[in-house]
Amino acid sequence: MKLDVNVLRYLSKDDFRVLTAVEMGMRNHEIVPCELIDRIARLKHGGTYKVLKNLLKHKLVHHDSSKYDGFRLTYLGYDFLAIKTLVNRGIFNGVGRQIGVGKESDIFEVVKEDGTVLAMKLHRLGRVSFRAVKSKRDYLRHRSSYNWLYLSRLAALKEFAFMKALEEHGFPVPQAVDCNRHCVIMSLVPGYPLVQVRELQNPDVVFETIIAAVIRLAEHGLIHCDFNEFNIMIDDDEKVTIIDFPQMVSVSHPNAQMYFDRDVECIYKFFAKRYNMSFEENENDSDGLEVEIDEVGRPQFSEINKNSGFLDKELAASGFTRKDQDELEKLIEGELEKQSDSDDEGTADEEDINNTNVKQLESLDLSKEDVNHQAGDDKHDDNHQVGDEHDPE
Ligand code: ADP
Ligand code: MG
Repeated sequence: MKLDVNVLRYLSKDDFRVLTAVEMGMRNHEIVPCELIDRIARLKHGGTYKVLKNLLKHKLVHHDSSKYDGFRLTYLGYDFLAIKTLVNRGIFNGVGRQIGVGKESDIFEVVKEDGTVLAMKLHRLGRVSFRAVKSKRDYLRHRSSYNWLYLSRLAALKEFAFMKALEEHGFPVPQAVDCNRHCVIMSLVPGYPLVQVRELQNPDVVFETIIAAVIRLAEHGLIHCDFNEFNIMIDDDEKVTIIDFPQMVSVSHPNAQMYFDRDVECIYKFFAKRYNMSFEENENDSDGLEVEIDEVGRPQFSEINKNSGFLDKELAASGFTRKDQDELEKLIEGELEKQSDSDDEGTADEEDINNTNVKQLESLDLSKEDVNHQAGDDKHDDNHQVGDEHDPE
């Protein structure tokens, strides 16, 4: 399966209406019963069923008749909903090549009308851990339901909120442009991940910059938690940009010390190995790569001034609440592994969902500017067949 955005050209208003109906149904159903989709979409003369067939053909939905006849979105379907929304907002109008495959994300270039290239990160939280997550599901027991859409959306929302807050505080991070569903749009960082950079002119400067950043993050109340050579980008001038924020935690987290030390250790280890840096006190080396950064030892978490107000005030204001943070942290740590998998699926009141969904659907402006002329920008035609669709199941 490819992320073939050409398909967007052939999708009609009704196609998107039904796709949106499936998405809404998934708030409370892993598999959305056909009748519910039909009730939400409200197409005339059994139109929903015809449309579902078309969506199935393009692999935007998955059919499941094991318990009852129903559908769920595929990642591709979810991608298209996000892409369509962002295109309608004028954020970009063409999807280009895939530039990254993370553990739980796919990253593509996207192009604005004026030719500016941005980065689009599609979160795939279910890709690796969906099955595991399923078995830990009651970490969200207070919600009527959740699934990979919800988790991926939460991860994107968090990443966007953190990126924006960090940028505002002068951290070297990509510029956060927009966010919809599981999709984050940010500036394209020039250069390559540190792990891919063969040589550095000034490894000691880069090292010091990186360590200074991790310390400053902690002073602002945050720990990256995945701070390593894969999530640090280096450009031609050896400028450092930090990426990948969904797993960040507050310094007030019970395991903060461990996460901080682990982040620091990753960097020390990498520079020791790749750039032969020795962090023993007062050592010197003939190749000139020696630094004396460690005269006072590794940065000590206990000595870093904590300022946990940062997270609560600014990140809550940007839409990512403390509660969201707590939930995601629990998921990431797998704290609830031991908890049992109580079967609470699809228990919400259908009538209630139906009413809310229809109201929300009606407020969606699906008739807006058609994505047809936009996502299929001719200049980027060669790039349309990009990447695999990773269906979580
Ligand atoms: P994951 O959370 O899956 O690890 P990342 O955010 O680390 O995803 O992105 C994976 C890869 O995609 C990165 O290692 C990098 O090569 C590339 N990438 C991510 N964001 C950008 C960006 N804004 N600009 C350029 N490349 C990026
Ligand atoms: Mg990463």
